[in-house]
Amino acid sequence: MRRHVRAKTLLNEQRKITDMVLRELGDVGYWGLLVDREYGGSAAPFISFARFLRQMATVDPTVAGLAWCMACIGAGRSRASVRIACAESGTTCQSWPAVSVLSAFALTEPCAGSDLTALKTEAKLEGDHYVVNGEKLFITNAIAGRTIGLVCLIDKKPPC
Ligand SMILES: Cc1cc2nc3c(=O)[nH]c(=O)nc-3n(C[C@H](O)[C@H](O)[C@H](O)COP(=O)(O)OP(=O)(O)OC[C@H]3O[C@@H](n4cnc5c(N)ncnc54)[C@H](O)[C@@H]3O)c2cc1C
Repeated sequence: MRRHVRAKTLLNEQRKITDMVLRELGDVGYWGLLVDREYGGSAAPFISFARFLRQMATVDPTVAGLAWCMACIGAGRSRASVRIACAESGTTCQSWPAVSVLSAFALTEPCAGSDLTALKTEAKLEGDHYVVNGEKLFITNAIAGRTIGLVCLIDKKPPC
């Protein structure tokens, strides 16, 4: 990370972290720090993870935030997401942290932050799939093609 900051290769033209940096972080296991060893992660204790991210935040706060989001509110710790990541990358689960598959957790809406009863985004079952309509904002790691845990109404009922 320091090397990229010095070389100014951290961000692309849209001022986003480059895919190369995300991939390199994956290659050294950054996205799998809290993941169990049986799934190829480091199984780091949370306190070590938090200390490490604090250190990372002094180099680049965005990259620290991405890992926090992925590991703590994204799908980074779920077995399902690990399987999805393995399937998508064509690797075995043992090498999952080498793959940069990031995930997001989409809860906040323009009028629903702390007050979740104000959620308006709705999923409707149509045939064998859900059609989702609504608007989310402030969603870290939300890029097309990634795994996103979505909080929304289903057939007008709030999530339980
Ligand atoms: C960098 C960043 C990344 C984010 N990433 C994500 C993400 O990945 N996914 C996602 O879903 N959201 C994300 N968010 C959104 C964040 O979680 C929301 O900002 C948060 O839920 C608060 O909602 P709000 O901003 O609408 O504030 P509001 O809900 O309007 O709250 C404003 C203030 O009022 C206080 N308040 C609210 N209700 C009460 C109450 N009943 N009693 C006392 N005080 C109250 C709050 O503590 C706050 O200080 C992100 C935000 C930031 C800044």
